[in-house]
Amino acid sequence: MRRERKVSPFELLIDGGRVATREHLAVENPSNGETVGLAPAASADDVGRAVAAAAKAYRSWRATSDETRRSACRTIAETIAAHAEELARLLTLEQGKPLNGLGSRFELGGAQAWAAFTAELDLPVETIQNDENGRIEAHRRPVGVVASITPWNWPLMIAIWHVLPAIRTGNTVVIKPSPLTPLSTLRMVELIAAVLPPGVINVVTGHDDIAPLLTTHPDVRKVVFTGSTETGRKVMASGAATLKRLTLELGGNDAGIVLSDADPEAIAERLFWSAFINNGQTCAALKRLYAPDSLYDDLCTALVAYASTVKVGDGLDEASQLGPIQNAAQWNKVASMVDEAKAAGARVLLGGNPPESRRGHFYPITLLADAKAGMRIVDQEQFGPALPIIRYHDIDEAMTQANASENGLGGSIWSSDIERARALAAQLECGTAWINKHGDIRPDVPFGGVKASGIGVEFGRHGLAEYTTIQVRHE
Ligand code: NAD
Repeated sequence: MRRERKVSPFELLIDGGRVATREHLAVENPSNGETVGLAPAASADDVGRAVAAAAKAYRSWRATSDETRRSACRTIAETIAAHAEELARLLTLEQGKPLNGLGSRFELGGAQAWAAFTAELDLPVETIQNDENGRIEAHRRPVGVVASITPWNWPLMIAIWHVLPAIRTGNTVVIKPSPLTPLSTLRMVELIAAVLPPGVINVVTGHDDIAPLLTTHPDVRKVVFTGSTETGRKVMASGAATLKRLTLELGGNDAGIVLSDADPEAIAERLFWSAFINNGQTCAALKRLYAPDSLYDDLCTALVAYASTVKVGDGLDEASQLGPIQNAAQWNKVASMVDEAKAAGARVLLGGNPPESRRGHFYPITLLADAKAGMRIVDQEQFGPALPIIRYHDIDEAMTQANASENGLGGSIWSSDIERARALAAQLECGTAWINKHGDIRPDVPFGGVKASGIGVEFGRHGLAEYTTIQVRHE
């Protein structure tokens, strides 16, 4: 395997220039525990300078023409495409996901596609009245400085989801990636900044404690946050004093319900990837699978047969389809949830037996039969490669359990009877109800959670509108 450089000269990017810091944090490769590089640890002054640069740049960026901003977004999409392989390798090194399959190259493809699509979006002026009695128009205007806070699971794609609609609509940005995966974002922002005026995009990295400096800053007008529900609550509380506008994309505990007319062998592969994409570390992954008595054993057999063919390994190995869990804390959470479920009577169909001593945060693909409500792995988001399969006797009971979660990001119904599936999909309490698929997202389709899974939506015109306020012109 090719040796990667161990120490990387990553620096903050503020007001169009690189800024060195005295402190750094080591970024670990989850496949082997080695240090991938050192990320700058921003001070409070650095964060303040980044917000000041964004506020200064906002004065002129908001006044640029729509065409200027569209063209900049197109160039950003091209830049990402041109550097996709470099960014994908860096992402694999720090995140762990494989280069291949639904891994880093796929993520960079998504980042490029979302950037390109966002470039072409418009929010035209809405004429509400135009007659002899007067004229009323609703104009969409930028909000100001946007703070973007991103998680470690899909760091680059989510960064693009935040940054592109913000700058497309005339805002400026300070982005703060997760301390666990900061390097690829630092590099991508450096590339993006090269096509924008200084200060339109800035990046600060460091420990979690720099985030509240952004969410409480009086010159930050909006926070777009993707991460856990727990941290989302803190973001909302900390933004209260300055009445921040918020988009919160939070955790999910998505249920998938298989109906008795489904064909287990036909759906096993798609079900598997719905749950195990990115090792289950995906907000809208299928995290609880409900299967009827009549199909239960056949479905378990089909899932085990497919899952046994999937190759887990170092992400730089082109043959790997899944990598390690991203970090030790998440590994411990998944392992303890599986252990508790086993102790409470869940039956291990596959996996569930991590090696005693480990190099990297690898955890085997795990399928748990006879899982039940009351087990933590059913009631809470596991965010890892372990899927609980819950037996149900009647569909109303399954629907009640599916909706019993505080979360409401996505859900799915799996059936050969489309009318029945549609009727049941309508009963799911979630932002997206899929049929015979799960987790599919598109840049033209709004995506967001209900209940504790978030506030607001991303993507498409609805998502773009969240980066604007309305000014009415009434004559
Ligand atoms: P996390 O909440 O631990 O961290 C997310 C970000 O918040 C990081 O950048 C972190 O540094 C920052 N942060 C930490 N403390 C903060 C504070 N007090 N104020 C503001 N920001 C703070 O989440 P994570 O573990 O990185 O990501 C996993 C979670 O993200 C899962 O729950 C997953 O479901 C969720 N997620 C949701 C979506 C979605 O679109 N709904 C997408 C991806 C991930």
